[in-house]
Amino acid sequence: MEINAPLSNYELNDKEKTSAVYKEISETSKSIREKYPFLKHQNAIGFSIFALCVSMILWSVYGYLTAQWNTWFVVFWIAFWTSILHELEHDLIHRLYFKDNPVMHNLMMFGVWLFRPLTLNPWFRRQLHLHHHKYSGTATDMEERGVNNGQPWGFLRLIMTPDLIFAGILRSKKMRAEVRQLYYEGKFTKDDIDNLRKTSLYGFWPFGIPLHLMWYSFVMYYAVFAVMSVVAPLAEMPAWVQAYIGFISPVVILFVVPNLIRQFCLHFITSNMHYYGDVERGNIMQQTQVLNVWWLFPFQLFCFNFGSTHTIHHFMVQETFYIRQLTAPAAHRVLQKYGVRFNDLGTFFRANRFNKEEAAS
Ligand SMILES: [Zn+2]
Ligand SMILES: [Zn+2]
Repeated sequence: MEINAPLSNYELNDKEKTSAVYKEISETSKSIREKYPFLKHQNAIGFSIFALCVSMILWSVYGYLTAQWNTWFVVFWIAFWTSILHELEHDLIHRLYFKDNPVMHNLMMFGVWLFRPLTLNPWFRRQLHLHHHKYSGTATDMEERGVNNGQPWGFLRLIMTPDLIFAGILRSKKMRAEVRQLYYEGKFTKDDIDNLRKTSLYGFWPFGIPLHLMWYSFVMYYAVFAVMSVVAPLAEMPAWVQAYIGFISPVVILFVVPNLIRQFCLHFITSNMHYYGDVERGNIMQQTQVLNVWWLFPFQLFCFNFGSTHTIHHFMVQETFYIRQLTAPAAHRVLQKYGVRFNDLGTFFRANRFNKEEAAS
């Protein structure tokens, strides 16, 4: 038999394909670790990346506050470094750094949250994310549903994509009813329901809610300002309003806008590379596709190549993000060989359904 014979010749089922993919990717991972022995210092590497990201962010904050750096440059600079913090958070959720040192582990968890303050509390996110791995693409996968995975594409999904709070409010009534239904059907346990309740009540405190409110008031101010400059050009905003805007502007520019840009890129990529709705429960072969078409590069830049590498993570969970980037070319060949989809752009028109035929009918 030829080595590169099409896989259909082997007649493997999805479960067998999944273990074969895992085995081949972990071999690549292993050989990279053998080639570069320093990679075994995982805690030190994780912490160094964390320290580098935080230093780069603080450097630009200083550059902005002393008026030495261009504002838009600062915004994109911070968006980039926070995208690496997102990868670190994800690795921490899987306890890949300081597993046996709760002080350092939780310190890093807090740090990656503090510099990405619009996000959900990472200790709450851990529950959602571990559930995501088990039930990706099904109705109880609240992590992906929270970023609009499975919704038909249109203007509404576009404006909900970067903003978790706005999306949550707009969909809260429908989601609450659905969660209740899923509980009655036995798909959510009592514990799941308690976690979801805690997550929605406390998950965005003390950073997310106040910062979102600041952002909405900032947008409203400039909208009113724009209208006033046309209808009443001589009128002035009250002094207290101007003082308030002067106070919140640096916070919005340094912490809100970069994170909204980053979240838009990440949520756009993730909600289209995961399938939703007709995915067989626990079937990793159907959960995701590799999304790495060239024109998505600007989005990948602010989510650390997520579209290209997250599928690898579904097959091999216990691997750090930086090694995943190194194994990606070899891992992609494996994924392709076993029939995982690449750049299935039809997902944009099928509300992320896996099944092409069903969605078309
Ligand atoms: Zn995933
Ligand atoms: Zn994960």
